[in-house]
Amino acid sequence: MHVEMERAMVASRRQWAPDSWSGHSALQQPEYPNLPVLQRALAELSNLPPLVTSWEVVALKEQLARAAAGQCFVLQGGDCAERFADCSSQRIANQLKILIQMSLVLVQGARKPVVRIGRFAGQYAKPRSADYEDVQGVRLPSYRGDLINRPEPTLEARTPDPNLLLRGYERAALTLNFIRALVKGGFADLHHPEYWDLDWTKHSPQAEEYHNLLRSITDSLRFMENILGAPAGGSDRIDFYTSHEALHLGYEQAQTRQVPHRTGWYNLSTHFPWIGIRTIAPDGAHVEYMRGIDNPIGMKVGQATPPDMLLKLMDILDPDREPGRLTLIHRFGAEKIAAGLPPLVEAVTAAGRRVLWICDPMHGNTKSTSSGYKTRDFGEIESELSQAFDIHARLGSHLGGVHIELTGENVTECTGGARGLNEHDLHRAYETEVDPRLNYEQSLELALLVANKLRA
Ligand code: PEP
Ligand code: MN
Repeated sequence: MHVEMERAMVASRRQWAPDSWSGHSALQQPEYPNLPVLQRALAELSNLPPLVTSWEVVALKEQLARAAAGQCFVLQGGDCAERFADCSSQRIANQLKILIQMSLVLVQGARKPVVRIGRFAGQYAKPRSADYEDVQGVRLPSYRGDLINRPEPTLEARTPDPNLLLRGYERAALTLNFIRALVKGGFADLHHPEYWDLDWTKHSPQAEEYHNLLRSITDSLRFMENILGAPAGGSDRIDFYTSHEALHLGYEQAQTRQVPHRTGWYNLSTHFPWIGIRTIAPDGAHVEYMRGIDNPIGMKVGQATPPDMLLKLMDILDPDREPGRLTLIHRFGAEKIAAGLPPLVEAVTAAGRRVLWICDPMHGNTKSTSSGYKTRDFGEIESELSQAFDIHARLGSHLGGVHIELTGENVTECTGGARGLNEHDLHRAYETEVDPRLNYEQSLELALLVANKLRA
């Protein structure tokens, strides 16, 4: 059938268009003081070339379908909020380094391929619990991420600026370009693990365990190549996919495209957009937007999504039960997962659905210290993850991945871990504007723990 006709049929079945979300209630959207400037920025954005291609998006969907079937494991990680100021070669390379290192540890533990998805190249917009905040007695609009406004505590900085949408898109493109060039140029070559050593890691409590594991991987690779008499084609290359929370609907819509030879619509600003827990209403604008795109999509679930609501959302977002389409990223908190997760897993199984389950052990474990730092404790993060594996296994389901806020930098934002960081250490290198991330050592330690769990 002619592609145009097929498209028309799909469109009428769905009653959906890239802007149909605008007829629904859209939470967490900034209020711009100057709408014509916003319209100009969005028009410009919709004419720029995409950041990713539909081929890549489709390839990721296939990989996620394999993860749902237990054939591979997903590592999704990166900053809570990327900052424009961190769009630098060193920061990007460090982020890749820790993700590569963690993924190798996981490959060893899971004895399966690992799919790497960065929270990067577009993770610039943040939902907030309040529209305004009090800064030293002055009421200011909340900081909503560099895509929207700036964090400095002045009215000018906090006023949403539509041109930041373009600056964010450009930085996402710069980030992705550098990642692609590094990977293509051999940065992620398994024969050269020294490329991804981070400077301060030599004295890490995990250094020895990690380096032993690395040696065993490179030894196996050389062994394979000796047998084959040639480089192990493909298996020595590491790929990355991108993801971000699809929050600013004008921005997402501007990059929603039809492509030649395919019938659907693709959000080509990222491979894997997800819906955050605050924008999950079944009749809301975010769900309306997400239901119509053909990307694989993630959805955060937790206390806010009781089983009947979850099933309703799944019917809306994945009516055709397409393999790889839907990933449920659960985030309960170490104390709540034991009661909260089983009803969701049971409901999904009883509905005869197969999805990819990923555990986000970060967002249910956030708290504030007495001195006002937002933090998370490594022990609680580990506990939630460990419980998640056990709960899925007990219910005949399986955990197919982890979703972590982390950085390759040596920050002090989360307490605990092998170095025993405590609340009084946090001020030393606390950088995040939004949520606390695991630092390099804590991330690697968590990967080693998950690998042990996968091996068990
Ligand atoms: C996030 O992933 O940074 C986030 C805001 O998560 P959630 O929607 O689960 O609160
Ligand atoms: Mn976060």
